[in-house]
Amino acid sequence: MTRINVMKPWMGSEEMLALSEVIASGWVAQGPKVAQFEREFAAAMQAGHAVATSNCTTALHLALIVAGVGAGDEVIVPSFSFIATANAPTYVGARPIFIDVDPATGCVTADGVAAAITPRTRAVIVVDQGGIPVDLDSIRAVCDPLGLVVIEDAACGAGSTYRGRPVGAGADLAAWSFHPRKLLTTGEGGMLTTSNAEWAERARRLREHAMSVSASDRQSHVLAPAEEYLEIGFNYRMTDLQAAVGIAQLGRLPEIVRRRREIADGYNEALQGIDGLRPVGDPDWGTSNFQSYWVEVEPEFPTDRDGLLVALAEADISARRGIMAAHRQPAYWTAETGDASLGVTERLTDNTLILPLFHQMTEEEQRRVVDVLRASSAARTGAGGRHS
Ligand SMILES: *Cc1c(COP(=O)(O)O)cnc(C)c1O
Repeated sequence: MTRINVMKPWMGSEEMLALSEVIASGWVAQGPKVAQFEREFAAAMQAGHAVATSNCTTALHLALIVAGVGAGDEVIVPSFSFIATANAPTYVGARPIFIDVDPATGCVTADGVAAAITPRTRAVIVVDQGGIPVDLDSIRAVCDPLGLVVIEDAACGAGSTYRGRPVGAGADLAAWSFHPRKLLTTGEGGMLTTSNAEWAERARRLREHAMSVSASDRQSHVLAPAEEYLEIGFNYRMTDLQAAVGIAQLGRLPEIVRRRREIADGYNEALQGIDGLRPVGDPDWGTSNFQSYWVEVEPEFPTDRDGLLVALAEADISARRGIMAAHRQPAYWTAETGDASLGVTERLTDNTLILPLFHQMTEEEQRRVVDVLRASSAARTGAGGRHS
């Protein structure tokens, strides 16, 4: 029996060829391939501008800076997200205000955002959690009249759609991740997209030490023009090696999404026959790329979430605990931000698990996963069981 992992990147000869071309070119740092990846990514996501970064966390950091968020401001965020969503506001001296999520989608709602707004609120970071599109229009309807910036953490969202368009296209700014846990990967990498040309230009400078002339432009001159450092910037650059892989991966994205949705359908069908496991699914307003296919283990299921993870592990299947709750992490629980009581977040964090789902997954592998779910649903007692 071979191990079934929760996720595997899907790469092949196109990525290898793209990498060897960059190596042969002699220019491996940020340069023409990054510029090409930015153009192609912006076109694919229907964004005016795209700025490549070292990862999604740094893209979120730049988004908050160019949006003018700073010390003393409040930024509304879901606790139910990878910790980077909450960390980014703290990098600029702002305070993350944790709100709860909708149990069906794992995403924040307009009502939840509205209830958390104070005179100090400057921005909201909404998340397409696990690839499920957030209902952006309803949130903009709350935020726009108040002048609050809406930033979409679309780390998991490449290939998901909202009302017929790519997610991220309707936000003031969107941040994307190319970590191998996401659909499209460059090893590490990220992107910031926006329709605001001034914000894009400033982010482009800030990611490269706020230099007035980029390193690749300087390189094209024998006598490089003198550069100035216009403000305090960062090194948040992507390399041409990463971008070349990203361009090849972007070409695969439609096929990756199609296949992931097919595998998700297979799980949906199997779960119809199993009581007590509630799967995530498409909301009315869009389609998920199923970056994370999670199920909630409900009270009537004979085994609890951790027991089910053990049962899967015993069959050499590496599922994962569901999405974390940032407000319960040591980094936040002692701070004034950690005292939130977020019932849905805590319920989902404690009772959901993410099932293996990757492009190359075979029917046989999916059957192995489903067999364990089925056997656990039939079991009345056992390790980790509710009745043991
Ligand atoms: C993965 C993820 C991030 C962080 O992405 P990196 O590219 O690793 O910095 C941020 N937000 C969410 C919601 C994520 O899932």
